[in-house]
Amino acid sequence: MANNYYCPICRSNINIGNSLVFSAKSPENKKGLVFLDTELGNYTKSTHPDFELQEGVEYKFYCPVCRAKLNKEENPNLVKVHMTDREGDEFEINISNIIGEHCTYKIEEKRVQAFGPDADRYKKYLDLPLEYHKYL
Ligand SMILES: [Zn+2]
Repeated sequence: MANNYYCPICRSNINIGNSLVFSAKSPENKKGLVFLDTELGNYTKSTHPDFELQEGVEYKFYCPVCRAKLNKEENPNLVKVHMTDREGDEFEINISNIIGEHCTYKIEEKRVQAFGPDADRYKKYLDLPLEYHKYL
């Protein structure tokens, strides 16, 4: 079985087949569904042709089931979901909310594993204990 993703709020499964499904909103209030590949570090995404994602733009991401906002409160550039891998281990996954910024973080307690060409972007932030985040 592949990686399984779910919403940290309602715990509904948000992956279907090889796609992780989000509801997304642009700063101009354009809304639509985004399918991301469930493989960590694979940045293939698809949307309906009427909902084109704009490169370099910050989107808000929502759970497609309960509509909870998934951008982190303390760093809105990171979108948080939960994942269980094929061994059944549970992780927090963070991805960038900026279209075209390719970084993914797999977090297990204090251990952060980074993926993607832009992985350095938030690595320093995630490596720091939470209490220091407000100084960044
Ligand atoms: Zn939800």
